Amino acid sequence: MKTTNDAWDVIVIGAGIVGVASSYFIGETGARVLTLDETHPCGGTTGACDAAVSVATKKPGLMMRLATAGLETYRSLTAAGIVKSFHQRPTYLVATTTEEAEVLERHAEALRAAGVAAERQTGDDMRRLVPGLSERVVAGVAAPDEGHAVGYMVVDDLLRHSRANLLRATPVRRILVNGGRVAGVATEKGDYLADTVVLAAGLGSERLAEDLGLDLTIRPRKGQLAVTERRTALPLSGSLISARYLLSKGSQKSSGPESETWSRYRLGTVIAPLDTGQMLIGATREDGRAETAVDYQALAGILREAVKIYPPVGEGRLLRAFAGIRAAVSDGLPILGPHPTIGGLWLATGFEGDGIGLGPQVGRIIHRLIAGESVGEDLSPLAPRRFLRGERAA
Ligand SMILES: Cc1cc2nc3c(=O)[nH]c(=O)nc-3n(C[C@H](O)[C@H](O)[C@H](O)COP(=O)(O)OP(=O)(O)OC[C@H]3O[C@@H](n4cnc5c(N)ncnc54)[C@H](O)[C@@H]3O)c2cc1C
Repeated sequence: MKTTNDAWDVIVIGAGIVGVASSYFIGETGARVLTLDETHPCGGTTGACDAAVSVATKKPGLMMRLATAGLETYRSLTAAGIVKSFHQRPTYLVATTTEEAEVLERHAEALRAAGVAAERQTGDDMRRLVPGLSERVVAGVAAPDEGHAVGYMVVDDLLRHSRANLLRATPVRRILVNGGRVAGVATEKGDYLADTVVLAAGLGSERLAEDLGLDLTIRPRKGQLAVTERRTALPLSGSLISARYLLSKGSQKSSGPESETWSRYRLGTVIAPLDTGQMLIGATREDGRAETAVDYQALAGILREAVKIYPPVGEGRLLRAFAGIRAAVSDGLPILGPHPTIGGLWLATGFEGDGIGLGPQVGRIIHRLIAGESVGEDLSPLAPRRFLRGERAA
């Protein structure tokens, strides 16, 4: 196979939010960076998802701390005029039963322990904060310092300022290794050489890592969403999220039995107002499903639950529905760090429902890891080493 270019310092595989953010930060150092995508920027999950830049919905511990840093990175990129699509706004978590209220109580405690502003509210307090909220809501948590950013717009912002080169329609077939070090990537257009490679291919990462001794166990997890038509004067000032969303995401544990619909779709309601006056309403978490068709039963469930929490959502008309596919890792954590045995190869993948909030921060972390700088956080729970073939815990 011919060699197309041997002058790259770093190759990044994947032009979703994680790959593009990594390329942006690495490119800032003056390194020659090539980003390759099998289709085009946002051709994967980043192009079909929701837009919460949220700490309040994260699992307590490392993921919550990373999300806090993620929010900070969005603020700094916004202040620098690089990202224009990020907005600060509150998240409102709501409970409609006493069991859900207990879930929120536990979660609010974890948020406060992590230093996140999160106020517990009664149902009446929540109705004052969110005009139009259903009488069914018995309790809530208001997290004022959250954010919102549409993934493909963030990618667009970063690409506009990035010094990295981008190659579309170039699927990477294989990662090249020579003498225990990464040497580049093989594509149908030829080999591209670099002694540093970042694997940020989302759902495509598992196959590429397979040849390199890693069994990543990344599974598709489908999420269906509906979008309303534009309406003026939307009264909703932030995202409304059900307590069940925390359970569906695994950020909190349930103590009760799961209904049939819950088991199949694992629906956790999110109602997110967009700048356009539309509302994004979702979403399911369907394990093992990788097809992007929308089904009537899921959509009916999503809308029914949304109207239960926030009746005004039923007054508008639906414009469309779509599904995106999350990359879910078997142990519920993303994969971030160096390949355990191949020098120069870095992995940043498996961000399930968190990649929009975390993407720019992960890009910054990848850049610092490559530069040998401190990232100020113990990332060993996310290390690719946990998937090294033959060394995995039973
Ligand atoms: C319904 C839904 C709702 C969501 N809501 C939120 C939310 O509110 N907040 C949040 O933070 N996150 C959310 N997410 C998650 C978020 O969308 C993802 O975590 C994020 O987009 C992942 O970005 P990525 O760059 O890792 O992967 P991707 O966007 O999938 O990018 C990977 C890229 O790699 C390319 N690729 C794959 N294989 C190869 C190959 N062999 N060669 C070259 N290129 C390759 C693909 O074409 C793709 O462009 C949601 C996801 C879904 C589905």
